[in-house]
Amino acid sequence: MKVPFYTPYIGQEEIDEVTSAIQSNWLTKGQRTKKFEESFAVYVGSKHALGLNSCTAGLHLAQKVLGIGEGDQVITTPYTFAATVNTILHCGAEPVLVDIDPLTMNIDPREIEKAITPKTKAIIPVHFAGFPCEMDRIMDIARCHNVKVIEDAAHAVYTKYHDRLVGSIGDITCFSFYATKNLCTGEGGMITSDDEELMNELQVLSLHGMSKNAWNRYSDKGTWFYEIESPGYKYNMTDIQASLGIVQLGKLEEMQTLRKKVADQYQTFYSKVEQLQVPHDDPKHRHAWHLYPIRLKGDTLKIGRDEFIEKLKEAGIGTSVHFIPIPIHPFYKKLGYKITDYHHTLKAYEGVISLPLFPGLTEKQTEYVIQQVLNLVDQYKK
Ligand SMILES: *Cc1c(COP(=O)(O)O)cnc(C)c1O
Repeated sequence: MKVPFYTPYIGQEEIDEVTSAIQSNWLTKGQRTKKFEESFAVYVGSKHALGLNSCTAGLHLAQKVLGIGEGDQVITTPYTFAATVNTILHCGAEPVLVDIDPLTMNIDPREIEKAITPKTKAIIPVHFAGFPCEMDRIMDIARCHNVKVIEDAAHAVYTKYHDRLVGSIGDITCFSFYATKNLCTGEGGMITSDDEELMNELQVLSLHGMSKNAWNRYSDKGTWFYEIESPGYKYNMTDIQASLGIVQLGKLEEMQTLRKKVADQYQTFYSKVEQLQVPHDDPKHRHAWHLYPIRLKGDTLKIGRDEFIEKLKEAGIGTSVHFIPIPIHPFYKKLGYKITDYHHTLKAYEGVISLPLFPGLTEKQTEYVIQQVLNLVDQYKK
């Protein structure tokens, strides 16, 4: 049997909506993007939303509008994708990495507190795999030290922290609609915030720094006149992306139910296995199950993580590793980051395997993955 690591959950509805977007002759940002932004803001419970071409663009712009630049520090986790840290560097600021909580694999608020200095301007928590960071503590630390919180919510489009959806908590939240994410537009992203002034600046910065009234260009009221207020970027969403997003948002609940069904089955079987550490969950919150990162307990098995992945591959099962920690990549090593400074991150990385988890995974495929993983553990347990 073949089980891919991931396939997108796209149906005729998306194809029809994209087709009608193309047939409308409006290919760039327009009414569909506006509709997607409005529906998304209502969905997460934030006052404003701005569609962008990626989450990376969102993280970059968020730091730009907060005035983050040379001499500033931004605290984040080493257990993330390169984009989180690269955008700090793009602003000319210094990424300050602090270790994770080994249980949740999310940034540890105690470590954040220790790392705050007068140069700290922002904290970027990442809701790893779709499980929320400890937002109350993080917001408290931020308020206490007068720094901003920008959430990297690339995994967290459905995540709830207590009864609040991610997107309505931090100062600015950045979502990803990349092909593999829970809600996908191929490439795409969204920023949400309650701060109208910041959102106006973000909007201007996301399209060349063009004055806001020039945005009427994207309607019948448009004229030829515009003014550039700052050297902005070209980060806007397009209506083709938004047409996918509108349909995907409409079926998010259905897609999440399917994800949860797979995750529940994995949890049920794997939590009984001594050699495996299952992802942390907590009924107080809502896991978005973007990923299912299982951890091999190294000292209980005669097989390493890399070899385990090879065996699964031989059995036709696609997997991935989230994440290769930032300090392990040659570029960040050159900047002076050392993985030995992040004990819990290194330990998690050494045992972690992301198993297939997507809405279209069949019951037979799920059972096959469970069977193969259990067989391997049985075969190689000490
Ligand atoms: C996918 C991802 C991003 C980048 O999202 P893009 O939309 O591809 O820019 C950022 N952070 C994390 C944690 C991610 O997984």
